[in-house]
Amino acid sequence: MDEVSRKALKLLREIKSVTFATVKDREPAARIIDVMFVEEGGLYFVTARGESFYRQLKANPTVAICGMNEDYVSVRVVGNVRFCEDPRVVDKVFDLNPMMNDLYPGEKRYVLEGLHLYKGKGEIFDLSTEPPKRQRFSFGGAQLVPSGYTITGECTACGICQEACPVDVISEGEVYQIDVEHCLECGACLEACPGNAVQPAKGL
Ligand code: SF4
Ligand code: SF4
Repeated sequence: MDEVSRKALKLLREIKSVTFATVKDREPAARIIDVMFVEEGGLYFVTARGESFYRQLKANPTVAICGMNEDYVSVRVVGNVRFCEDPRVVDKVFDLNPMMNDLYPGEKRYVLEGLHLYKGKGEIFDLSTEPPKRQRFSFGGAQLVPSGYTITGECTACGICQEACPVDVISEGEVYQIDVEHCLECGACLEACPGNAVQPAKGL
């Protein structure tokens, strides 16, 4: 796992209570779930086998997770989960999050099952910097999705996009260039370009 992926999962664990989204009968479904621990292989959470969340994950073991800390640093990741039938995962969750014993005392903890996000791609979006900064990441074999709008060789260097950009991240050149780490992905440059030189961001 690379450094940005590690940082992203660590941030999610620090925020702890974050949004987990799934698909239920082709409609979006979201709820707040605690990130119970992270380690080199990914992120772990639990749910009870009776929960609709559990059934949704059984039907489609993918999830989108997002959260933001008090410093306006947000993280989102979309990826694949596997069920951890080994009860030692639940035990580890309870060791690291002792307040879980209040909700599920004693053996009652085993109505829960551990889930492991082992593969994912996402972004850290830091709104505390000027301009905001994006860092994309992927782990577990997921394909990295690069950030930002881009400018192609069709550019005539007219400079109109540079004036349109709200965060001044377009620089001059024979072909103008966008600093993709700081691009807001707002699309103002694409709307302003008189040619067809701006490509939209791939998006997550
Ligand atoms: S998408 Fe928005 S922020 Fe990004 S370069 Fe274009 S105008 Fe600037
Ligand atoms: S507006 Fe279009 S053609 Fe003009 S500099 Fe920007 S990308 Fe190039």
